[in-house]
Amino acid sequence: MSDPGLQGHAALVTGGARGIGRAITLTLAARGADIAVVNTSPESAALIKAEVESMGRKCLSIQADVGDPVAVKLACERATAELPELDILVNNAGITRDRLLWRMADEDWDAVLRVDLSAAFHFTRALTRGMTRRKFGRVINITSVIGQMGNAGQANYAAAKAGLIGFTMSVAKEFGTKGITSNAVAPGYIETDMTAGLTDEIKGAMLGHIPAGRFGVAQDVADVVAFLASQEASYITGQVLRVDGGMLMG
Ligand code: NDP
Repeated sequence: MSDPGLQGHAALVTGGARGIGRAITLTLAARGADIAVVNTSPESAALIKAEVESMGRKCLSIQADVGDPVAVKLACERATAELPELDILVNNAGITRDRLLWRMADEDWDAVLRVDLSAAFHFTRALTRGMTRRKFGRVINITSVIGQMGNAGQANYAAAKAGLIGFTMSVAKEFGTKGITSNAVAPGYIETDMTAGLTDEIKGAMLGHIPAGRFGVAQDVADVVAFLASQEASYITGQVLRVDGGMLMG
């Protein structure tokens, strides 16, 4: 059912065309927000644009590499020009380049840090200006439980996701009095293209550590993001909300 709680707001969702980002895009649109999606593939971009527009919301589709600061600057200029009420930012785009440490090339490290961490800095720096003027803003960063527990073969990803948590808290402290909240959502294992390549053996082992007894779906994460974007979450800032079926506790 459509919930217009975000009417009058617009959200930019990086990587908002597929997986968790797609569910976030559709959930925010269902709640009344206009949307800007930033991703790389024109095919998935065209599909999500059509879906959002069929819900009666505006959808600006921007093809850009979020790991490129110049492309991010241009994307933010375009998005704020076309959607002046842009006051929700979801830093969701992410990649993995898994290798054990001795085999991890400099490029594997740099690519993951650029897309999974530095992009959030570039988008947040650009878009908090408009949020400050509107005296309302939501910065929501999609981190991972791996950023809190580490993982063999994911030193780059864990470092980026842990960095994102520190970044989230710093933004919360800098912008706390300006009506802008900054929070991180830490998914556990969510069934998307990113996790589709894992072997049944790894999946089986993981399932044994999930008290909920199931893997997550993208909608599990999207519903939490929509809550953090809402007025009702205005006194929640600087937090990390785990959406992991209880995989990591304490
Ligand atoms: P997917 O691989 O399914 O989707 C990733 C999205 O990010 C795609 O839309 C892709 O664009 C976009 N993207 C990737 N690189 C870039 C780039 N350089 N520039 C612009 N867009 C880019 O990933 P998930 O949905 O699984 O993951 C979403 C987020 O959730 C990530 O940050 C991930 O780390 C995090 N996460 C995921 C978990 C999981 O189990 N799936 C667990 C914990 C965290 P395009 O459509 O053009 O390919």
